[in-house]
Amino acid sequence: MHTATDTLALIGHTPLVRLKGPSEAAGAEIFAKCEFANPGASVKDRAALSIVEDAEARGLIQPGGTIVEGTAGNTGIGLALVANAKGYRSIIVMPETQSREKMDTLRALGAELVLVPAAPYSNPGHFVHTSRRIAEETPNAIWANQFDNIANRRAHITGTAAEIWEQMGGRIDGFTCAAGTGGTLAGVGLGLKEKDESVTIALTDPHGAALYDYYAHGELRSEGTSVAEGIGQGRITANLDGAPIDTQFRVSDEEGMVWVRRLLAEEGLCLGLSSGINVAGAVLLARQLGPGSRVATILCDTGFRYLSTLYNPEWLAAKGLAVDSGATSA
Ligand code: PMP
Repeated sequence: MHTATDTLALIGHTPLVRLKGPSEAAGAEIFAKCEFANPGASVKDRAALSIVEDAEARGLIQPGGTIVEGTAGNTGIGLALVANAKGYRSIIVMPETQSREKMDTLRALGAELVLVPAAPYSNPGHFVHTSRRIAEETPNAIWANQFDNIANRRAHITGTAAEIWEQMGGRIDGFTCAAGTGGTLAGVGLGLKEKDESVTIALTDPHGAALYDYYAHGELRSEGTSVAEGIGQGRITANLDGAPIDTQFRVSDEEGMVWVRRLLAEEGLCLGLSSGINVAGAVLLARQLGPGSRVATILCDTGFRYLSTLYNPEWLAAKGLAVDSGATSA
């Protein structure tokens, strides 16, 4: 094992794992990038570091400055740890509907946490707009703006995609994941297409998101709801602009929960729901690409972040996602 020169050097270079159950279910080879192995335990550490380093390179933030962001939580955790390692303050705005564990983690990291009611993007009180206003009002502060700052997806073009390509020995037929900002999907998609134009890039959209209809029919339209945190987008963010999407799937929370449960019980992986939804999408993509195809996806964050929700029978029952609710087969 190599020795990292500092904490920030621990971000990225995550392992790739072959998933046994999903590979068997699809009659294919399904691999997943272990983004829970980042120091902040999610894929968003990569975007956080890239956004802060880009702001530094452009002279937008000075020593002792403040990083402000609106986030479902994981980007906030990534930014707070990057801020601590670099000597900045962090102010994180988050909808109050997100998991308790994310809020506790942010407080433990020393971030100033601002909780706002969940609201549609068109509402000025939405967490993204609130964070922009706080950044404007705070001296020597930057607004990370993860949705429309393409330093986010650059981290996935130069990092995640390049790592997947190398770890799969250049033998990859397809890649799929869900989108929050779209940084991972667009960045990995663009990065893999640079290596091999014939790799199929697929969107896996949760219910309640509008991207499935956009890529299928050219119209942003949503249907249903999802309790998955960190994914489910209603607009084409700057990070999604020009994403090379070849095909798309829509996956329910129930289908995602099947894989969350199976991956824990059969492979010992404790994951969040976006990872389960991604794996369900990877099985669909591999079936479409045919027997023996090689497909990669993302395990976005650790399930230890959702012990009070996804791994809590009472919460699951309240959300209609209990084991006996029909979410039992893949
Ligand atoms: N899963 C989780 C748990 C997340 O927090 C996020 C980030 N919002 C994503 C998936 C999606 O990543 P991206 O923002 O790169 O689309």
